[in-house]
Amino acid sequence: MHKLFARQIAKTTKPTGEVDIAALGELVIEAYTQADRDRRRTDRSIGLMIEELDQLNRGLEQLVEERTTALRERENELQEQNLRFNAALQNMSQALLLFDGAHKLSICNQRYIEMYGLSTEVVKPGCTFRTLLEHRKERGNFPDDVEQYLTNHRAAMARGQIYSRIVELSDGRTIVVVNHPMATGGWVSTHEDITERRRAEKQIAHMARHDALTNLANRVQFQERLAQALAEIPRGERLAVLYLGLDQFKSVNDTLGHNMGDELLKIVAGRLRNTVRDIDTVARLAGDEFAIIQVNLERPTDTANLARRIGEAIRAPVDLAGQTIVTDASIGIAIAPADGTATSDIMKNADMALHGAKAEGRGSYRFFEPEMDARMKRRRELEQALRRALAVGEFELHFQPIVNVADNHITSCEALIRWNHPERGMIPPAEFIPIAEEIGLIVQLGEWVLRTACADAVHWPDDTKVAVNLSPIQVMNKSLVPMVVSALAATGLPATRLDIEITESVLMQNTDTTINALHQLRELGVSISMDDFGTGYSSLSCLHKFPFDKIKIDRSFISGLPESADSIAIVRAVAGLAKNLNMITTAEGVETQQQLDQIRMLGCTEMQGYLFSRPCRAEDLLKLFPSRYEMRALSA
Ligand code: C2E
Ligand code: CA
Ligand code: CA
Repeated sequence: MHKLFARQIAKTTKPTGEVDIAALGELVIEAYTQADRDRRRTDRSIGLMIEELDQLNRGLEQLVEERTTALRERENELQEQNLRFNAALQNMSQALLLFDGAHKLSICNQRYIEMYGLSTEVVKPGCTFRTLLEHRKERGNFPDDVEQYLTNHRAAMARGQIYSRIVELSDGRTIVVVNHPMATGGWVSTHEDITERRRAEKQIAHMARHDALTNLANRVQFQERLAQALAEIPRGERLAVLYLGLDQFKSVNDTLGHNMGDELLKIVAGRLRNTVRDIDTVARLAGDEFAIIQVNLERPTDTANLARRIGEAIRAPVDLAGQTIVTDASIGIAIAPADGTATSDIMKNADMALHGAKAEGRGSYRFFEPEMDARMKRRRELEQALRRALAVGEFELHFQPIVNVADNHITSCEALIRWNHPERGMIPPAEFIPIAEEIGLIVQLGEWVLRTACADAVHWPDDTKVAVNLSPIQVMNKSLVPMVVSALAATGLPATRLDIEITESVLMQNTDTTINALHQLRELGVSISMDDFGTGYSSLSCLHKFPFDKIKIDRSFISGLPESADSIAIVRAVAGLAKNLNMITTAEGVETQQQLDQIRMLGCTEMQGYLFSRPCRAEDLLKLFPSRYEMRALSA
């Protein structure tokens, strides 16, 4: 202030050195006014500052409140999460432990306590890892050495590595233990009981390599074993593969049902297992196909002996639900290295030998021969030729009369198919019908037979029926009834003049639909005959299933006449039964007068056979019918 005052005095000092008091007074007043203004300005800005601070404060208070609410919410959430975590921890299927950096237990779920049967007195937060392991050892649930385990575990944790082990407990359980290191120096440890999973895996692995029905090796395992055996076969030694097919298995399956078929397969499997040595392998490859690997062959006769022993074992009668079944097996044999050294070659050749054995008839065994290869090729050619034959019309129908034994009158004629092959001549049906059935051509072929037979029969006397053989596959076919109706309509043959011959195997397959179809045919007026009676396993029970019009007694019984007492008894019984059931009986394959006399005496009503006529062409058949004139005379 004194500087300002000095300046004011200097300003108001006149040149004479005298101070102008009035001017000075003005200057001082001005200075005071200025100072007053300054103070007021300062006061104002202080007021503003206070207001601002106030506002800031209020904002802060609000923020604090907001934060507090958020924190409280977060805390609730945390609590809830904690509850959830606890629930999860206690309910998980794995045992879970958490250790802190001091190797002391911080968390442990109930599952862990239960898994090893531990005491919660010992296993609780704060318990050391060592104490815990020792406690488990004490309870018999720690198979390893505690010290060793601790050392390994510690080393892994220190390296920050996961330390996992599979523990086999003395009670048979398998536990997977995984220790997961954490940044704190502690670790999380999980224990999972994988006993069930292991068992299931083993089961699946077993199933993949075994046949479910018989528990024998399946094809997969058989091939593996064979490949291994072939690879290990010592120089100068040999091994044999025997392929085995049950004879007539299909017929057991068809006539007695699949359950019985399965039973039979199990019995056969057991017998095979008992026939071979432990070092050999028995497998079921498919259906009724079995295979054996015979290793360490010592003598050349070893395999033939085994094949014979297998044959004997299988031929022993089997009791199936009260029925005695006798089966037999055909066996094909390939020898390594002579017949090949690759699995595929040995299997193919053994299979071919099996086909050879089957062709030879029941219960035989055959070794592979190179010519079999050629024979298989011929069969494939036959398949192709069959398809072509139908297209170009190489089939013919021959007819064989069936005669009433009382008056020698022809009651019907059976249509029998022939293949007139351009090079091989007349081929009998037994050679190609099974192939046609296998390749599905039988439906078309059968339709041709039916139409042709009906068309021919129109030219015969009105009281002569035509008998047509139907294979099981045709009868199962949904279009059987429409096909028959259309054949009758197209040819104009009355339904009452058509007779359908089926074998018992037809009734065993898909029974309901089959029997329905047969009933529908019967309603149309078609008659149904049971063919080859007595050759299957349940001919008698078939008579229950469907009301047949006729029983055709198989040729095998007639050929036993007149000597065989068994044949006589059977023919008499069947004829008697048929008479009571109001059915016709036809004796098949009557070749001699003696046989004719006898079947007539035994009660058969009809005969069919070479004695009266062999099957003949349609035009030759017409000559066997009496002329119109004679017929008129007969009826007069
Ligand atoms: P099957 O139905 O038992 O036919 C009777 C067979 O016995 C015929 O043989 C016939 O020629 C033969 N035969 C007749 N009388 C005598 C005799 O006195 N002595 C001897 N030893 N044999 C006699 P074929 O013609 O070789 O027929 C064989 C089988 O082929 C037939 O047996 C039948 O099951 C089947 N077959 C024939 N034609 C057809 C057809 O069109 N469709 C179907 N699905 N099968 C047919
Ligand atoms: Ca027949
Ligand atoms: Ca027959």
